[in-house]
Amino acid sequence: MQDNGVEWSLMETTRAHQLRAVGLRVTRPRLSVLDVLADRPHADADTIVTAARAAHPSLSPQAVYGVLRALVERGLARRIEPAGAPALFELRVADNHHHLVCRSCGAVADVDCAVGAAPCLDPSDTAGFVVDEAEVVFWGLCRDCQVAGSPGIAVPAGAVQFSAQETRGGAIA
Ligand SMILES: [Zn+2]
Ligand SMILES: [Zn+2]
Ligand SMILES: [Zn+2]
Repeated sequence: MQDNGVEWSLMETTRAHQLRAVGLRVTRPRLSVLDVLADRPHADADTIVTAARAAHPSLSPQAVYGVLRALVERGLARRIEPAGAPALFELRVADNHHHLVCRSCGAVADVDCAVGAAPCLDPSDTAGFVVDEAEVVFWGLCRDCQVAGSPGIAVPAGAVQFSAQETRGGAIA
C-alpha cells in the first residue's frame, strides 16, 4: 500500500483513515502512539512514551503527550483515571465500558457496561443535576494477587468492592 511515497501496512492505512476521519493529519508520531495503545490497553503516559520512543527514538516525550491529548480530544482514545493511579489510555472508546482495578498490582481489566448506554446508573438523588455519564470502577484483587496472597490488604479473595467513582452532569439552571 502506498501513500505519499511511504510504504504502509494495512494496519497503518486503517489508522490513517481513523485519523483523517476526525480531522487529524496523519503523522508518524500519531501512528506510533496508536500502535502502542493497540498493544498495551490501559497503559499510562510514561509507558506509552517509553514504548513509542523505543520504536521511534526521535520522538520527544512532549510530542507523545501532545498526541495523546489530541487523540483523546478527538475521541480516538479514552483517558481513565482510577483514584490514586496515573491516568491510563485505551483505544476502546464510546461503548460506556467500565473497569476492574486490582488494589494490589494496579492491573486493569475491561467490564462491558451491563446497560450499554450512558448513564448506566441512576443516583438515588440527582441534586438537580442532569446526569449524562456514570463511570464505575470495581476495586478488588486480580487473580494473580489472590494466588500470591496479599497480607495487609483486607479484601477477601474474589471480593469486588463496588464504587461509583464519578458522575458528571450539568446543573439545571
Ligand atoms: Zn493484582
Ligand atoms: Zn478499558
Ligand atoms: Zn455501565
